Amino acid sequence: TKWVYSFGDGRAEGEAAMKNLLGGKGANLAEMANLGLPVPPGFTVSTEVCTYFYDHDRSYPPELEQQVATALAEVGRITGKSFGDKDNPLLVSVRSGARASMPGMMDTVLNLGLNDVTVETVARVTGDRRFAWDSYRRFITMYSDVVLGVEHHEFEEALELFKDRKGYTLDTELSGADWSELVGRYKEIVEKALGKPFPQDPREQLWGAVGAVFGSWMNARARKYRELHAIPASWGTAVNVQAMVFGNRGDTSATGVAFTRDPSTGAKELYGEFLINAQGEDVVAGIRTPQNITEKARIAAGSDRPSMEAAMPDVYAELVRIYGVLERHYRDMQDMEFTVEDGKLWMLQTRNGKRTAKAALRIAVDLASEGLLSRDEAVMRVEPQALDQLLHPTLDPKAERKLLASGLPASPGAACGEIVFSSEDAEEARKAGRRVILVRVETSPEDIHGMHAAEGILTTRGGMTSHAAVVARGMGKPCVSGAGSIRVDYKTQTLSSAGTTLRKGDVITLDGSNGQVLLGAVPMVEPELSGEFAALMEWADATRRMKVRANADTPRDAKTARSFGAEGIGLCRTEHMFFDADRILAVREMILADSTDGRRAALAKLLPMQRSDFAELFTLMAGLPVTIRLLDPPLHEFLPQTDAEIAEVAAAVGASVDKLKRRAQELHEVNPMLGFRGCRLAVAYPEIAEMQARAIFEAALDAAAATGTPVTPEIMVPLVMTKAELDLVKQRIDAMAVAVGSERQATITYQVGTMIELPRAALRAGEIAETAEFFSFGTNDLTQTTLGISRDDAASFLGIYTTGGLLPSDPFVTIDREGVGELVKLGTERGRATRSDLKVGICGEHGGDPASVTFCEEAGLDYVSCSPYRVPIARLAAAQAAI
Ligand code: ADP
Ligand code: MG
Ligand code: MG
Repeated sequence: TKWVYSFGDGRAEGEAAMKNLLGGKGANLAEMANLGLPVPPGFTVSTEVCTYFYDHDRSYPPELEQQVATALAEVGRITGKSFGDKDNPLLVSVRSGARASMPGMMDTVLNLGLNDVTVETVARVTGDRRFAWDSYRRFITMYSDVVLGVEHHEFEEALELFKDRKGYTLDTELSGADWSELVGRYKEIVEKALGKPFPQDPREQLWGAVGAVFGSWMNARARKYRELHAIPASWGTAVNVQAMVFGNRGDTSATGVAFTRDPSTGAKELYGEFLINAQGEDVVAGIRTPQNITEKARIAAGSDRPSMEAAMPDVYAELVRIYGVLERHYRDMQDMEFTVEDGKLWMLQTRNGKRTAKAALRIAVDLASEGLLSRDEAVMRVEPQALDQLLHPTLDPKAERKLLASGLPASPGAACGEIVFSSEDAEEARKAGRRVILVRVETSPEDIHGMHAAEGILTTRGGMTSHAAVVARGMGKPCVSGAGSIRVDYKTQTLSSAGTTLRKGDVITLDGSNGQVLLGAVPMVEPELSGEFAALMEWADATRRMKVRANADTPRDAKTARSFGAEGIGLCRTEHMFFDADRILAVREMILADSTDGRRAALAKLLPMQRSDFAELFTLMAGLPVTIRLLDPPLHEFLPQTDAEIAEVAAAVGASVDKLKRRAQELHEVNPMLGFRGCRLAVAYPEIAEMQARAIFEAALDAAAATGTPVTPEIMVPLVMTKAELDLVKQRIDAMAVAVGSERQATITYQVGTMIELPRAALRAGEIAETAEFFSFGTNDLTQTTLGISRDDAASFLGIYTTGGLLPSDPFVTIDREGVGELVKLGTERGRATRSDLKVGICGEHGGDPASVTFCEEAGLDYVSCSPYRVPIARLAAAQAAI
């Protein structure tokens, strides 16, 4: 079996398409080598070795050692060096690389192959002792940390002590002799911790590092990341071994990262940071503040340190050339890592760059305009769920801003919440329903859960490509990084800046779009949607088959829904119109009435309110379809709870408090969700359905007269289990249409349909469709009733099911394809067999969930209906499902 794949010198055994086998990093290193780009030679140990490793008690396939030796020899041939050689040592990096990028999850070891002998050789050959010993101390630190488990801070402390003793402030002040002295100290630390010396044999070092990379696949951080991103453990990671190039060889050397376009805005501008005379992760770790790549960015940032464009013009030109090659080749924005050794640029990594939703949109639309993508491809490039970020509020430009401090605009959007200083506190507060801002000096992969729990993230150190910035952008959370004027004191749980001190629990607001940290809660405004948003949505709309409607109960919802492109209202829950203070009383009167007359009196009060609500909805929707569901109150939501509430109703109807209390007790239900609700109410008290039908018809006529556009309301009967129920309610509705028609001297057009939310209704859909003119699958209730899981009580055990793999995902978020989905398909088929033009839609939370929308497309539904903010998500998801 082939376990090892070489790359370098303008060719490679792998390619970008082999990500599963080589991991993302390895596949792209191979691809870059194939493109003739300057990549240090190396080889990739495949992910299959990782699988083998865990299947065979952490051991390797027998052929591996020979294959690695051969590949190493090839790297030596290309570089003219030799691994383990005393006089001409080849040094390598050992880098992990899983199939999906797992930023910061796995650690890299640089300068491997150095030991007490080769460090002297390197010093001699390069004539640079500082460089040689700086490289060696980096190697010892990284290797000890990653492979030997000796913690980083031990070395940091030794370094700080040393600097203090010598009166240095910066690492760059240390000479070769200084580093060499410190390396001695480092080796003592290792020996003391492990009881044996730091390994000197390069081969032992190499296999130690390879084993550590495979071992780290199962570490807690990596597992947590996989869990959050649904990456199966079975994928494994690859290991890349690559000849070192050195960014720490003085002022003609550097290391950096760059995005081919701005990952926050999507603007077509090379965007990134670099550090002169530095190695590896110095840039990402935020130890030194990096410099800008372009002059333009330098000027915008007001930095007085030269940009790469100014300091290294030839290298910059080469980087721009390569960036063009990579973008055209991958047809996407790239996130590149590079190192400059003595004026020569080397590419160390490229991948499709993570970006904000705003940038994703702009980049997709721009790439299509540049001819690199078709419109359909552009539509496929934007993750529907990511649109959420664009549809949410930003700070009100008119609001007063009390500036506490400024940092870098690391991830856009606004967030407001209480300060917490640890991820544990963030998670805890979140569970208690409080909104928090996570404040850290810098974040690390251990903070991922806290970042998830927080509304926004604030760090006092680190650049635009720091861990906090990259991860926050991926999560779509606002982030301000590197707010250097803020001092964080974890011990006292306070932060201070410019004379102001805040403690844990105080409220701040972050503006991730300009890097401001503001005191208190600053008001927010609804987002303005960009031209790219409109363009992409237009392309999506041109492709999709399904319609997208909104669940909208009030005129305000309807306005939002229309502004987001809803093509109608798929569900207006009339009971939601009743919660307002002036109405709830009349509703309670109606519910508590113990006679038809009493009920009619209450209904008479509700009629004009309903009529004007409906008229406003019809007018706003201007002829677009509007589905109104008849009253479906789980009664308990409306019953008066307190004595004061009961007294209020008693006074209004002129009955005694005791009597009403008794009545309320009578109506109490053990299991209201399966109780006296839905059409059962209309069956028992037809006058309620009649009032609502009258309100709908009169409103339709009023709105049609006012707008000149005919209105055809769709009246939906909830929670039907038999055709007989629907027949009965429909008769009442039809009779009311005749009555209103003759009173108003008008013909009324309308449809009567039903919600399918009980398994029995789905099974009997064939006969129900004899009466129903449309179906809408109420998948929230259908999920409850099919799985027998009460939505309101699921929280205590559902998590165990999803994390334990007993259910693939929360069935209330993503439709249970096999169970509920089967009923949807079957109900649709049986319904359409009876009535071929039966209109079928879905109106649960699932209507705005991309995976469920995909299911609806496959099931051949006519439309999905979802909450107003999710309408764009559904439009895009429906388009993607159709492509
Ligand atoms: P991560 O997955 O955390 O980004 P990488 O394997 O990309 O880890 O390594 C991090 C950094 O180490 C790289 O960006 C690069 O600066 C440096 N590096 C890795 N391999 C080499 C090498 N062969 N020569 C020089 N620097 C290297
Ligand atoms: Mg790393
Ligand atoms: Mg990298």
